[in-house]
Amino acid sequence: MSNENNDTVTVGEIEFPPRKVWLKTYGCQMNYHDTERILSHLSGLNFTQTTEQSEADLVIFNTCAVRDLANQKFYSHLGETKRLKTNPEINPETGLKKNVIVAAGGCIAQTEGKDLVKKYQQLDFAFGTDVIDNIGEMVYRAYAGDKKFSVTSWDRSENYSIETKITHGSPMAYVNIIKGCDKFCSYCIVPFTRGREKSRGLSEVVTDVKRLVEYSGIQEVMLLGQNVNSYGKDNGESLAQLIHELESIDGLQRLRYTTSHPYDVSDELIEAHATSKKLANHLHLPVQSGSNSVLQRMLREYTIEHYLGLLAKMRKANPEMVVTTDIIAGFPNETEEEHQDTLKLLDAAQFDFIYAYTYSSRKGTKAARMSDILTDDIRGRRLREIQDKQMKIQENIRQGMIGKTFRILVEEKGTNKGVIKWTGRTSCNRIVHFEPDNLDKDYKWHWVDVEITSATALSTQASLIRDLGKKL
Ligand code: SF4
Repeated sequence: MSNENNDTVTVGEIEFPPRKVWLKTYGCQMNYHDTERILSHLSGLNFTQTTEQSEADLVIFNTCAVRDLANQKFYSHLGETKRLKTNPEINPETGLKKNVIVAAGGCIAQTEGKDLVKKYQQLDFAFGTDVIDNIGEMVYRAYAGDKKFSVTSWDRSENYSIETKITHGSPMAYVNIIKGCDKFCSYCIVPFTRGREKSRGLSEVVTDVKRLVEYSGIQEVMLLGQNVNSYGKDNGESLAQLIHELESIDGLQRLRYTTSHPYDVSDELIEAHATSKKLANHLHLPVQSGSNSVLQRMLREYTIEHYLGLLAKMRKANPEMVVTTDIIAGFPNETEEEHQDTLKLLDAAQFDFIYAYTYSSRKGTKAARMSDILTDDIRGRRLREIQDKQMKIQENIRQGMIGKTFRILVEEKGTNKGVIKWTGRTSCNRIVHFEPDNLDKDYKWHWVDVEITSATALSTQASLIRDLGKKL
C-alpha cells in the first residue's frame, strides 16, 4: 500500500506516518534486485526512499560477502551509524523525534546476523537472503518495540515462488528465476549465504514477465540467478525452454540472463542464441583462470579446452555473440606459469570485457584453508598484467565497431567536457555515447539507431541515425 497524500497508514495495531528509508547496496545484481524488492514492500508501511542518510527514519544495509572490499565498506558504514542513535533529529514532516531503526540484510547478515546484532549496539535487526520478502514484518516488529533480533532461516522445503517487484519506472526489469548455487567452488561463499539451488516454475516466470510487459511497460528483462543456466534442473525445465516461451510475449524486446557457469551451458542454450530474435547477443561466462590446474583447485568442473570449445560453438551459432568474463588473479599458490596461462587465454578467448580481481580469502570456504605463498604485491602485479593485456584486446575489438550500426536502449544523460551526451547499451551490452540532435529532447528509455564513430578500450562514441521512440 503506498500513500501519496502524506496520510498515516495503520497496519495491525501500529500507525505508520510517512517515513524515509535510506538503503545501501553492496555487491551483485541479485543484491540490487533484492533492494528493489525491499523498497517495494516498505512502500506498504508508508516508507519512501531518501538518498540522504541524515533524513532517514530507517537505515538498511544490503550486504555482500563475496569480496573483502565490500565487506570492509559495510563494517565502516555500519560503524558510522552509531551517531544516528546518539544524536536523533526531529522529523520535519511529522514533528516527531526520530527513532532511527538500523538493519542489515544480505549475505553477511545471513551468516553473521546474530553476532552482528550483539556486537553493534546501533543495529536493531539483521535479516538473511531468504527472508527479503518478510521485511515488512521485521520493520513492523522493530516499530512494535522488538529490538535486537536476527532472522536468517532458510526454507528449504518450500517451492521458490515470488512475484517480481519494480519501483524504478524504467523499461528494464530484473527477474529472479533461480536462487542459490550447488557448485561449491572452493573460493566462493555464495552456497553458504544463498543456499542450494531452487528454481521458480517456468509457467510462473512467464506469467510474471507477461504482467511486467503488459502493466508496467517493461521491454527488456534480465533473468537472474547465481547459476542461471542451471535453471529448471529441479523441475525438469530449462533456461532454453524458458527463453523460448518468453520470446513469444508481444511487447518484450530484449532478454538477457546472468550469471552462467560453463559446466551448465547446454547445446539447447547455444541453439537459442542462434535462433532467438529477442535474446541479447551477449554471454557473461565467468572463466576465473586460464590454467587447468588452478581450475581444478577452484573446483570449477571444466577445463580451458571445454571453455574455449563453448565459445567456438556459441560464435559459430551466432557470429554476433559477445562474451565477457570474470577472472581471479593470484588464486592461492598460483605459479607464474599458471598466471601466464591466464594471459594466453585472453588472446585465445577475445573477451569483450573482463571483471578481474585479486583473490580474497573468504572464511568458511575450502580455499581459505589452503596454504598460500603469494603476497599482495604478486597478486597486484598479476592483476595489472591481466588488465593491461585485456585493455589492448578491448581497444582492438571496439575499433572494429567503427562504421557499424547498432540499436541501443538509451538509459541516461550526462556531460563530458561540457558536451551533452546520452548513453545506452547495445544488444551485446556495450555502452555507447551519442550527442543528441536536439538538446531539449528527452531520449531517456528511447530506442535509437546509432553509428559508431570512434572507440577506446572502455567506451564507444556514436552519431544518431534515427530515434525510434519509447516503443518498438
Ligand atoms: S558457481 Fe561457483 S562461483 Fe558461482 S556462485 Fe556458485 S559456488 Fe560461487
